[in-house]
Amino acid sequence: MKRRNFIKKASLTGVGLTVGSSIVNCAETPSEDKKLGTVPSAIASLPIVIATWHVKDATAKAMEILQAGGNALDAVEQGCRIEEANEKGQSVGKGGLPDRDGNVTLDACIMDKHGNCGAVVYLQNITHAISVARKVMENTPHVMLAGEGAKQFAISEGFQPENLLTEASKEAWEKWKVEAKYKPIINIENHDTIGMLAIDKNGDISGACTTSGLAYKMGGRVGDSPIIGSGLFVDNEIGAAVATGLGEEVVKTVGSFLVVELMRQGKSPQEACEEAISRIVNKPNSNYKDFQVGYIAVNKKGETGSYSIHQWFSMTKFQDGVNEQIQSDYYNKT
Ligand code: ASP
Repeated sequence: MKRRNFIKKASLTGVGLTVGSSIVNCAETPSEDKKLGTVPSAIASLPIVIATWHVKDATAKAMEILQAGGNALDAVEQGCRIEEANEKGQSVGKGGLPDRDGNVTLDACIMDKHGNCGAVVYLQNITHAISVARKVMENTPHVMLAGEGAKQFAISEGFQPENLLTEASKEAWEKWKVEAKYKPIINIENHDTIGMLAIDKNGDISGACTTSGLAYKMGGRVGDSPIIGSGLFVDNEIGAAVATGLGEEVVKTVGSFLVVELMRQGKSPQEACEEAISRIVNKPNSNYKDFQVGYIAVNKKGETGSYSIHQWFSMTKFQDGVNEQIQSDYYNKT
């Protein structure tokens, strides 16, 4: 296992830090925090936002909202929208790589400080899946809408349908068709999800997750990203986690819920992410060398963690005026 110890760089040392307007002592994590179900005391400088991958524009947008006193829910939604609108990013929103039939289908979910959540699966022709997920949460009695129903709901809420398959993504798909002969390939490259977690000045947590899913997947395939507990989970008393990578593996281990529950039991965000990854790689006959999964997490204290299978994973973190990409530590057992 290769350890880059990046979290040491990112974690806090024993100094007093500003939380909102108050100074608290963070010299030592109180042992009470380790007890099951207890609420950790705040020690980090708030607000804070973290996201999967290298998405500094998205975290900057979220931080702009948080610094202005906005809430974490608005921050994660608006942050994710930046990447959904970015046609150059071929893993979310407009420009996302299609399924093997050339259809761009989006999955997204969002969760607030009260444990409310909304999700869309297999959404077509609407760029801002994350905002539709929020509308599902706020304007329907449901948690999840799929396919044509999700699209019709989005249109009824004022979203404009559009073609999401850009020329660049169409070209990539046509090239894939020739090379792969219509066979969906599970590998380390064909994916990426934007997952974002934020704590606002009040110390409240929200999270969001948006993706076009696995590139060239089978028609109808849905991954972990819209599934609360798998792709994303928020517990405002404990913390939050979000996943990226091969959704099938995340779903099988209910990954994000697992990370949050491990934090509830006293693990740090880093330890919890590592344990969730170990549940995947240590399965009998796990073929983990063939796929990628990564988690990021934040606890109520504002401590963060990130861990993945293989080294190609990073987290963007914006805190204390610094918006930086942090290379994730990763599992690399041979
Ligand atoms: N988790 C997403 C899915 O399985 C894809 C990804 O993150 O790359 O659909």
